[in-house]
Amino acid sequence: MKDYCIRVSAGNGSIRGFGATTTNLVNEACKRHKTYPTASAALGRVLTATLMMGAMLKGDDLVTVRLLGDGPLGAVVASANAKGQVRGYVQEPHTQTKSKYPGKLDVGSAVGKNGMLHVTKDLGLKEPYTGSVPLVSGEIAEDLAYYYQVSEQTPSAVALGVLIDIDYKVLASGGFIIQLLPNAKEEIAVQLENNINNLPPISEMIREGETPETILGRILNNFAMTIHEKIPVEFSCPCSKSRLESVLISLGKEELEAMIAEQGKAELVCHFCAEKYNFNKDELERLLREAASK
Ligand SMILES: [Zn+2]
Repeated sequence: MKDYCIRVSAGNGSIRGFGATTTNLVNEACKRHKTYPTASAALGRVLTATLMMGAMLKGDDLVTVRLLGDGPLGAVVASANAKGQVRGYVQEPHTQTKSKYPGKLDVGSAVGKNGMLHVTKDLGLKEPYTGSVPLVSGEIAEDLAYYYQVSEQTPSAVALGVLIDIDYKVLASGGFIIQLLPNAKEEIAVQLENNINNLPPISEMIREGETPETILGRILNNFAMTIHEKIPVEFSCPCSKSRLESVLISLGKEELEAMIAEQGKAELVCHFCAEKYNFNKDELERLLREAASK
């Protein structure tokens, strides 16, 4: 099944929701970054959340989510646009943690409970907007719900789940975000909470073949759900050799001269997608001439 995200509303416009299956794109991200299971789960959850947050945007707007905890994973970062393209990385992909519960990955300890969650939205204005909150648990879904409550005053239920096989393959991944808009009545919140509490874990539902439509349907079936959009989603990074050429040129004449003298070549790796770009001596000399002419 292909990955996709849906955008829905319910309860006469007092509820909005997003649901996504991301098994393939999380697999792709984990393969690129060669992540171990706990890192795969953390990265998968952040990618899934970020792409749903991207679906809240318009046009060329961008959202970047950064979790900076004090755990061994280091930073977990993802960035998405409104077109269903998401990319991301985890600083220490080979982190392994022991879990108190067999079969469960301890994402909270790997991320760390002390730290910050930053959400940056680039809406094409002069300055991007950043909202930051302290981490609640490092489990990511809870941290995002807290972000929405505190930073955007939007009560939200967030579920994110990644199921990893013993061979490190991602078996199932996905999530949902349900938000109450300002006109929502109190009893709606209570009923929604009940519906959500009665759900099996999200990764299990996806594993069993449930879709964003059926999962959101279970939560919103008493509130007349309308599906507005279905967006195909993928792991996609806009990096390219020519973009990295500009990075090299911006290092300046001296740096480039040293690089040519010492190594005679350069290998640059994109943080976000782990793609490698190689530059040979001729190419570096051309970039040096460009840097020198600036
Ligand atoms: Zn890239």
